[in-house]
Amino acid sequence: MRNKIIVAATTAALLGVATWIALPSASASTVADPYFPDDGNPGVDVLHYDVAIGWDKGVLSGDTTLTIKATAKLPEFHLDLSGLTVSAVDVDGRAAKFRREGAHELVITPAKAIVKGAQFKTRIRYGGKPTGEGWHVYPNGGALALGEPHSATSWYPADDHPSDKATFHLTATVPDGWTAIGNGEPEPVRTAKGKTVFRWNEDRPVATYLTTVAIDKFTVRRSKMPDGTPMLFAYGDGIDPRPESEAAVPKIIKLFSKLFGPYPFASVGAIAVNGVEAGNVPQAIETQRRPTFQGGFFDVSLSHELAHQWFGNNVSFTDWRDGCIAECFAQYANQLWEEAEYDSDLDNFFYAAMLRQSLDDPDFWSVRLYDPGPGRELHPALYDKGSMMLHALRRMVGDDAFFGTLKRWQRDHRDGNASFPDFEKLAAQVSGKNLTGFFAEWAHSTTEPSDANLRPGSLAGVQPLPSDDDSDGPGRPDEPEIKTPRK
Ligand SMILES: [Zn+2]
Repeated sequence: MRNKIIVAATTAALLGVATWIALPSASASTVADPYFPDDGNPGVDVLHYDVAIGWDKGVLSGDTTLTIKATAKLPEFHLDLSGLTVSAVDVDGRAAKFRREGAHELVITPAKAIVKGAQFKTRIRYGGKPTGEGWHVYPNGGALALGEPHSATSWYPADDHPSDKATFHLTATVPDGWTAIGNGEPEPVRTAKGKTVFRWNEDRPVATYLTTVAIDKFTVRRSKMPDGTPMLFAYGDGIDPRPESEAAVPKIIKLFSKLFGPYPFASVGAIAVNGVEAGNVPQAIETQRRPTFQGGFFDVSLSHELAHQWFGNNVSFTDWRDGCIAECFAQYANQLWEEAEYDSDLDNFFYAAMLRQSLDDPDFWSVRLYDPGPGRELHPALYDKGSMMLHALRRMVGDDAFFGTLKRWQRDHRDGNASFPDFEKLAAQVSGKNLTGFFAEWAHSTTEPSDANLRPGSLAGVQPLPSDDDSDGPGRPDEPEIKTPRK
């Protein structure tokens, strides 16, 4: 504990931001999400999750306590839980009635109504074979909780909406020989009666879809960045460690800290799992502090998921219309890394390649970046058109205003939530430019932007790459292609 505090203070001091170790404030739950109206729960603002699970022979046992603030009077309240059998519920230590409703509602009736503004704890005991979409089981007996937009409710009762961020403690009990990796900082491991107990403490608010537990026969490698920030890399059964990729992490974090503002968390790392074996596992997700990758990672894929630690994790969606505030930025961050590391000419390679793609794909412009529509919350347009938009914005307002906006965004919404329209306002404010037309054409339209907004500044005259040239820049090392859906 003492070491952790010293490291946090040292990191903050090195980064010159003393206020960083201030306690986080959890955000409030919203009402119905426009895309997932059943997600989240009115009147419930979860402040902290204390999730305890056991995993053995394909069966999960759970004993989870949530600390909640009532934002309305609650004669009863809802949480989200998919499948699993609930055996008992307490509210502040007293047995409570409960029932299941709809696809994933757990409705709890306390012995006495909870008054508006009160803080209370509810303990839920549950178990069974997980059936939710976010729980993946390996042939070797291991398991992984991973999925966006939904995964949390497959292994713990949650207020499953990104607007309700909370601190998160995980206790995972597994048979000896297995390792459980979670978010946040590891606490001492305990063993008893053939079981090993792993505990992880995430003390910054985290959105539910960014929480994870990975249970495997991990090889764990620990080291430190030059500034002392701890790094932890976990490689699942059958995955070879990648020390050369690990070595890129401090460089990526240093670059992004310069461009976006201080790294938001006190540690960094990655989890690599053999996702193909379990089937239907996302290629990579930016699980907080420690993104999870299928198969392995390299510097460019790391740069995307590490950029999410700022965009999506520190500053999270207001609702699922806001995918761009995570994916547009993380995808563009790949280019920022390539520009810094490999001297990539973003105008004449990246942007020219995207112009070519826009000619070859008749649907390229057809999706709005803000509010793309239900089922399109992580549409490929957020990555392709979205990263193009940010490069055009940078050329429109200049580097000082562009990166100044990103830093203000991170500072103003620390540990919080914001929407893409909030970003539009901030960019206009910081740059002093009227960007209404720019964002109308790029983010709220389904057609190609006018030339003034498509080719501002040094992009004037940039032409699409020839169709037979698939180069994405000089100096880029030969690395595996990403074929499965990006997250
Ligand atoms: Zn992403």
